[in-house]
Amino acid sequence: MTDRIAEDAPPCLVFATGNPGKIEEVRYLLGDISLNLVTATELGLDLPASEPYATFAENAAHKALHVARQTSHLVMGEDSGLEVDALNGRPGVRSKRYSGPAGDAQANNAKLLRELTGVPWPRRRARFRCAVALARTGTVVCAADGNCEGFIAERPRGSGGFGYDPLFYLPDRRQTMAELAENEKNRISHRACALERARPFIRQYALRG
Ligand code: IMP
Repeated sequence: MTDRIAEDAPPCLVFATGNPGKIEEVRYLLGDISLNLVTATELGLDLPASEPYATFAENAAHKALHVARQTSHLVMGEDSGLEVDALNGRPGVRSKRYSGPAGDAQANNAKLLRELTGVPWPRRRARFRCAVALARTGTVVCAADGNCEGFIAERPRGSGGFGYDPLFYLPDRRQTMAELAENEKNRISHRACALERARPFIRQYALRG
């Protein structure tokens, strides 16, 4: 068991991800809670090698449980991705590896644009989905999810965020997710929504450990 955290530090929440974009967003979203948010990698813990399930919720639980078996801290697993109506919900849980095992965002975006060539605007409707699972000592103790609705643009725009953000168009704002002002994504995103729902549990954990 690897628990290299000082005893007088606030309770430790271990984030079971290696995605730098997600880590930055979650640090911001939970920044007002007195927690020691660390990644599994920072603690030398092993991340699961695959996302074997057909739903975001099951994959989030799988990630959380895999890491929770290696530590006594609370562990957060997260799985997210993009569902496009014209593609019958694809890429879905395969969003990261849509264009191949490397998980390259530019290649994923290029493939998405290819698959949507000639698809008219109404059928370009899409949503980001996020599932969060909190696990401790082999049990999922809290689960939450969140969505964010939009459309797939015809070309990438903006340099913020990560993954599919340059193609994810928000009609209310007339911007892609990647064009939003700093931290605006964190007010409306699928991840913000899921963490808002998990927040009461995380707050309690921060108070009581
Ligand atoms: P996973 O949860 O590690 O399977 O990765 C989810 C994949 O979905 C990411 O690699 C991105 O391609 C995509 N994704 C998830 N959330 C976002 C987001 O907030 N913006 C853009 N792409 C996202």
